[in-house]
Amino acid sequence: MSYQLKPKTPAGKIFVNATESLTESLRDRAQAADQSSTVAATSFDNLKAAGINGAFVPEDCGGFGLRSIHDWIVGMSRLGRGDGSVALATNMHLAVSRGLSSGRAAAQSSGNDTLAKALEAQLEQIVTGNMTICATATEPGTDNLHPLTQATPVNDGWRIDGLKLFVTGSPIASHIAMNLRVKGRDEKPDSISSVMMPMTTKGIEPQNDWNAMGMKGSGSQSIRFNNVVVPKTAVNPIGPWGYWNTGMLMNRNLANLPLLGVFLGIAEHAYELAIEAALVTKKEGKPRQADLPGIQHMIAEIEITLASTQSIVGRMGEITDDFLEEFQQKKIPIERAHELLKDHQSMKWVVNRNAIEIVNRAMDIVGGSGFMDNNPLSRLYRDVRAGPFMQPYSPTEARDYIGKVALGIYPSK
Ligand SMILES: Cc1cc2nc3c(=O)[nH]c(=O)nc-3n(C[C@H](O)[C@H](O)[C@H](O)COP(=O)(O)OP(=O)(O)OC[C@H]3O[C@@H](n4cnc5c(N)ncnc54)[C@H](O)[C@@H]3O)c2cc1C
Repeated sequence: MSYQLKPKTPAGKIFVNATESLTESLRDRAQAADQSSTVAATSFDNLKAAGINGAFVPEDCGGFGLRSIHDWIVGMSRLGRGDGSVALATNMHLAVSRGLSSGRAAAQSSGNDTLAKALEAQLEQIVTGNMTICATATEPGTDNLHPLTQATPVNDGWRIDGLKLFVTGSPIASHIAMNLRVKGRDEKPDSISSVMMPMTTKGIEPQNDWNAMGMKGSGSQSIRFNNVVVPKTAVNPIGPWGYWNTGMLMNRNLANLPLLGVFLGIAEHAYELAIEAALVTKKEGKPRQADLPGIQHMIAEIEITLASTQSIVGRMGEITDDFLEEFQQKKIPIERAHELLKDHQSMKWVVNRNAIEIVNRAMDIVGGSGFMDNNPLSRLYRDVRAGPFMQPYSPTEARDYIGKVALGIYPSK
């Protein structure tokens, strides 16, 4: 039995057990979703039924009460072993629902009962399966710090116009969370704000255009916002437009870090397929692949690469949990938030490269049958390639950022 990362907290154990219970059924449906570029709706229903969507909801609101980022990543790796597309979409939902749970805790401790009650109502909707959230910060021709989708003040509310890309999970989501630009008035600078609204809000126009090389079952279509009107309270300021602030850095850290668990899980699944193929008995006394030195060496290389990948994933989970513990009651200095993102980016560099390499080697071991559409390995080969694109940062930007922060140069934008 190969080593695997394990959850460290009681809530994490419940969460990871729930994700593991679905591996086979996720695999059963992944193939059809991949071939048709549609989302496996039944898989998402099963996740809800297993309580996974409510993992971050506190126990007194009916959820698992998950807090550990380490354990979140472990659970994502298990979902990634089942179906990368479903895992990707679930990560987006969990990232936003984690924010709602933290918001409720903060409202409770500051005595803001109205806000705490409003957030509790949303958390209960998550637990009952009536609320599933997709999240987007991606737009054409710009980056996360410079959203061009704009909120303009109108009578008693805001009007939202713009276009978002790669909105993973949006075909099955009830709500969408995203960032926006709010133009400054009276010489005030522009700001970034966030909004969450029902997908049924008038003027939200899903483009039904997800036709990609991999993650074909993730429903990552683009969505146009055309004269969408939301109440005044729906838009919440995050910080100045075009600049990092601690809140944005922590959001990027915590929302995207567990995504790397998905790519670890894809690599683990590919390794499993390689081992299975190597152990198949051949015809007429021909040696099994497992008995060939070339295959043994390649399996050893996967084993080594997987061990280093798991190590850095576990390390980053621990670093992040320790970080959150340290700053539970204290304000996070922006330099520390950058340093966390630097560590996260080093991990992302290793995980994305290693996961691609592991799936590639598994393909060499499985051989031509792995190239066929009906072999899950061909899907893993395409899905794993999505990892490096995930922001922040892509491989062309990551070293610049890591090097700067390691040298004590903290980018403001
Ligand atoms: C399957 C999938 C699912 C996704 N799901 C979501 C989601 O749910 N929500 C979401 O918000 N986003 C999502 N994304 C988007 C993802 O996080 C990236 O934002 C997106 O892929 C970036 O697009 P791009 O590579 O065209 O980058 P662009 O920003 O258009 O950049 C193009 C190229 O230029 C490079 N580049 C840009 N600036 C610099 C620089 N300063 N220095 C050096 N190189 C630079 C980039 O690295 C890239 O190689 C998803 C992406 C994929 C593939």
